Amino acid sequence: MIALFTKESHGIRPFWYAVVAFTLWFALTHALDPHAQMPRSDVVTDSMDDWTFSCGLLFFFLGHSMVAHEYRDGHIEFLDGLPLSRWKVYVAKVGAAMLPFVAMIITTGIIKWLACWLAGAPHALDPTAAIAIHLGLFSVVTFGFLGLGFGFSWLGGLGWGLILLGLFFGLFLSLEVVAVRPYLPITGIMEIAWDGADVTQVWGPVFFWLFLGMSGFTVSGLLFLGPGEFFVRTGSWLLGSVRVVAVGCATLMFLLIALLAFVGLLGSFADRLWVDTETAQTEHFHWLYRRSLEQESLALIDQAEDINARVAAAIGNEEEFYLDIEILSAARYHAGVYLGGKIRLADDSEAAVLAHELAHAHAYEISGWSAHHQFDHVRFFEEGLADYYENLLFPSDASDSKLMAAAIWKTGQARFDMLVEDDTRSVKHDMTQVYPLGRQFVEALVHVEGKDAPACVLRALGDVGAEDIAGISLWYTMMGACDYDLDAVIAQYHARLEHAAEDLDVLPSLTGQVVREDGVAVGLTVFDENHRDASLICRFRDEENSELRDYEHRNVGGDRTCDLPTARLSGKTLWYQLGFQLESTGDFVYGEWTSAPL
Ligand SMILES: [Zn+2]
Repeated sequence: MIALFTKESHGIRPFWYAVVAFTLWFALTHALDPHAQMPRSDVVTDSMDDWTFSCGLLFFFLGHSMVAHEYRDGHIEFLDGLPLSRWKVYVAKVGAAMLPFVAMIITTGIIKWLACWLAGAPHALDPTAAIAIHLGLFSVVTFGFLGLGFGFSWLGGLGWGLILLGLFFGLFLSLEVVAVRPYLPITGIMEIAWDGADVTQVWGPVFFWLFLGMSGFTVSGLLFLGPGEFFVRTGSWLLGSVRVVAVGCATLMFLLIALLAFVGLLGSFADRLWVDTETAQTEHFHWLYRRSLEQESLALIDQAEDINARVAAAIGNEEEFYLDIEILSAARYHAGVYLGGKIRLADDSEAAVLAHELAHAHAYEISGWSAHHQFDHVRFFEEGLADYYENLLFPSDASDSKLMAAAIWKTGQARFDMLVEDDTRSVKHDMTQVYPLGRQFVEALVHVEGKDAPACVLRALGDVGAEDIAGISLWYTMMGACDYDLDAVIAQYHARLEHAAEDLDVLPSLTGQVVREDGVAVGLTVFDENHRDASLICRFRDEENSELRDYEHRNVGGDRTCDLPTARLSGKTLWYQLGFQLESTGDFVYGEWTSAPL
């Protein structure tokens, strides 16, 4: 029996090579993908669907080549000559096939677990439960394919046709019948709800695949014991007659799928490709806009050259340059972005937003690449400048911006030395506060050194280049190059904020307390020491360096408590920021980021 098992294991050696190659590929995709930037819940689910499907087919192939060929190749007489019952031969075959199956489950688990712990977030939640559920589903699906391989092997090549037909049928069915989706790899068997603590998944698919696998093994075993020969012969006969029909069907089906995929692709990219976009050319800009918003877009395009000339004159840039401008969409939380050579505007952008982005473009034209290299030290200045010139052309909310800056000053978050190290500042403070603060700095600069000062500072920035220099030294260098007095400008900046803060009422002073049930964080209660009647908000991030667009906001309820966005938090640490609404402007002023164990 042992000898037979060894012989069977030896016989599937090429299959083992395939298992190793598959596993290496899976490990590589996990090592090369930027999993470090993913929430841990995404690391667990990442590519599990494709992986389960590929491994399923691989194991179907294994099962398909294990049993029936003994009859087909006439080995059965040899086996019958051995002093072993056919039943034991069959058990040895199943055992040999189980070894790579178990190995695959273990390596999959190890790769997922390592990816979570090594590349994943440093403070993330324990992913063991979620990985275990995924592994469980992976196991039953591959087990099902392996069993089906054993069962269908009696039909020869027709077995492959049947499994592929079954899969196609399932996939098409799942497009219409939603309930079918969790039963199939690719369409959603791996869609598991994991809120960081509890994992929920449905049991139907587990039993379905276990049943398929067990049936395959049982049927194949029974056939192997007796009437297999009949099936092998019928299978070959059937195959001959069915082949013609099957090949025809498969070709038709393939063409149909290719056509559907092509139509789908066209549909999803259509508005980008040609259906809805139109181009235009003005003196300095090449435009791309939505045809459906032609009137609005042309109205903006009509003003653009004039706005550009006014921004250029205000900032003092005489160099002409040419840009692509898209009026399609911008990044989330942005009305527009300047991407060096291109401006992207949201499709409902107003002229003021264009002025803001053009101010960025002109500033960049003067300073050159240094603006990128020194971004950490000059971000507040760049945004302040853009806001300043935007407002010069389209005066609007001057007092709003100033009151906002004053409130940030009053909460102790506006000092100049903090502004010049933006990366460090963003870890502790609201990263959008640099807009109103930068604007006040630019106004202080213009007030002390005159309206040509910003351009001179930008030219000085260009001369610094990529030099690795602390923010405050960079600013003394640039201001020195222009013969400006940085200390006087800083004093003016602080004085403006202090003066504006006098117009503000007493502001809320917020602290949070994490509410726990059985030691697990479930909510955040907000206290205001100053007992103001302001609207309050909680904001959460998953990691210290999460992007603004990944922040989660929760309103403070009647019980002064915010719910936690548990499903979005993958760390062991809870990061929160408390904010209050500034009544005069409607904007929220956020305090420092605070962390607490989850
Ligand atoms: Zn900007």
